[in-house]
Order: sequence, then structure tokens, then C-alpha cells
Amino acid sequence: MRRQLAKCMASLVSKGLMTGTGGNASVRIGESGELLITPSGVYKPDLRADDIVKIDLDGNLLEGARPPSIEWHFHTAIYRRRGDAMAVLHTHSPYTIGLALAGRQVEPVTVEAAMVLGEVPILEFMLPGSEELGRAVGDALTNHRAAILQNHGVVTAGCNLAEAINIAEVLEATSKMMFVASLFGGARLIPPDRIESVRGLNKV
Ligand code: 13P
Ligand code: ZN
Repeated sequence: MRRQLAKCMASLVSKGLMTGTGGNASVRIGESGELLITPSGVYKPDLRADDIVKIDLDGNLLEGARPPSIEWHFHTAIYRRRGDAMAVLHTHSPYTIGLALAGRQVEPVTVEAAMVLGEVPILEFMLPGSEELGRAVGDALTNHRAAILQNHGVVTAGCNLAEAINIAEVLEATSKMMFVASLFGGARLIPPDRIESVRGLNKV
């Protein structure tokens, strides 16, 4: 799991979903109240498995030489509220942030977006690393698969790391498509009377 976390950070930077120092990720260890999380402030593509730290749901450092991500508040808030969440991912996805900066919601413009994303709320600006942000993200992720943090980034949660990554990738790809469509006059939506049946299809 430590190797997977380190590898996924490097891969998300190379895919353009994060800058080198922005973003973080965690996985819950089984049913326990413990999680593995990326350390704070490091250049993420250089992360190695033994840089990953272990904390409890109160943010206490259990294993590791570095402080945990400053965003441990929202990582733990999501695990406290969502029994099914086993992985949490925070990216600084540029197209998704760009749409939110312009006040635009990400809409289910493709079949994949409708199936994977659902509604994606935009949370008003809050200070990174704050308890306030932790509470707000915990609330938002209780009944959404992803949330956008205004002027900041994206948070997703999944039943494993692959699912949390997939949600972040589909969200960013959808934002790019909406951006392209906006250059040519805007996106055509899936017909409203078909959207519920699309959402009911098997998850990707
Ligand atoms: P950390 O390096 O502490 O995880 O902070 C990065 C970040 O994106 C804060 O929002
Ligand atoms: Zn961030």
C-alpha cells in the first residue's frame, strides 16, 4: 500500500492532475482507525514507499519520520463519516479548478461522467489544512463521490485507491471536454429523460 501511494502521486503529477508539491493521498488500513498518508510539503514524484507515514483518526503520528499531510483533517473526516471509503485523494486538477474559478459546475456531459461522478459540489474558499475545511469536506463527501475546493483543488473518495484515482481522472477529463465545448458555444447535455438510466448502468 505504501508503494501504491508513492507510485500514484508520481503518476498523477505526470498526468497533470497535480503540481509536484500540491496534492496528497491516503488509504485506510483494513477496519482499523489507522491510515497511511503522504507526508507534508515534499516533492511528490520523488516519494518512496518508506516516506509514507501512518496516523490515527486524530492525526497522531504512529509511524514515520515526517509530519503527515496538512490535509489530514479532511482525510480522517471522510473515513469517520464513510464506512465504505478506503482511499482519499486530493489533487490540484487545473481544468476542474478553472471551471470552478469561473463559477461553472461540472455537468454530466458524457456517459462516463454521468456514471462515475454524480453531482460535484463546489465548496467556498477555506484555509488549506484547517479544521473548518476538514469538517466541510467530510460533510460534502458523505453523499458525493467528489468535491471541488474553490481556489484550491479536488477531493475524491473510493472503496480503494484505484476508484479514488478514477473519479479524479474522470472529473478532470470532463472539465477538459466542457472547456473545449465552451470554445464552440457550450456543451450539449445528455437528454434529461435519459440521464437516470445512464446513471444506473454499471460503474466503470
Ligand atoms: P501537503 O504536502 O501537506 O499534503 O499539502 C499539499 C496540499 O495540497 C495542501 O492542500
Ligand atoms: Zn491542496
